[in-house]
Amino acid sequence: MRAVSLLLPLLELFFPSRCLLCRGRQGDNRELDGFCAACLATLPDPASCCRRCGQSLPERGVCAACRGCRLAFSGACAAGQYRGKIRRVIHRYKYAGQSQLAVPLGRLLARQVRRCPWPAISAVVPVPLHRRRLAERGYDQSLLLAEAVATELGIPLFTTLVRTIDTISQTRFAAAERWGNVREAFAVLPGIALHGNILLVDDLLTTGATAHYAAQALLDAGAGTVYLAVAAR
Ligand SMILES: [Zn+2]
Ligand SMILES: [Zn+2]
Repeated sequence: MRAVSLLLPLLELFFPSRCLLCRGRQGDNRELDGFCAACLATLPDPASCCRRCGQSLPERGVCAACRGCRLAFSGACAAGQYRGKIRRVIHRYKYAGQSQLAVPLGRLLARQVRRCPWPAISAVVPVPLHRRRLAERGYDQSLLLAEAVATELGIPLFTTLVRTIDTISQTRFAAAERWGNVREAFAVLPGIALHGNILLVDDLLTTGATAHYAAQALLDAGAGTVYLAVAAR
């Protein structure tokens, strides 16, 4: 025990923990392993974001885009905006095969979920990847992220939502067209009864169409309320 307590400061001296976002020393911050205090301070506070879609706002409320828009999810939060350091990390995670980044990203996202004024969550469900996309990429980025979030929050993970249609890559469509593109894309597998508040997890939120229809499928299958957590938006 004594040897270990001496070894840890020595390891830290020669191999200091680096912040995933800025690669600087993590320093004394012990709030969240893998991140420095300066980077954590730059992340959006859910208390000052749109309570429907998680967009940063000058003050807590509902953003202009969400007013008059009926979304199937009741609230959303993001670990950060999709730009700068977070964008670079997500690119490494999604497109450079660095699937191990799911763990620190999930830890970061779980921290944001804990800061949201949401009721107790009963299960975490990833937004599914179609099997053809899974075959191309080799891993399911939303599933790995959802697993990390569920582990961090101590909540069960249900992989009960499936993608029945391989929707053409969202980035090829204009915003208005994306809504029709994913309308019928989701189904819930029989076997697990959904109830209570479900946390839907995805890597990115763009128009909200994918999350909306995924959440609607969960509501249709018995979920009481669906909240959404994304790595970035
Ligand atoms: Zn940092
Ligand atoms: Zn909004």
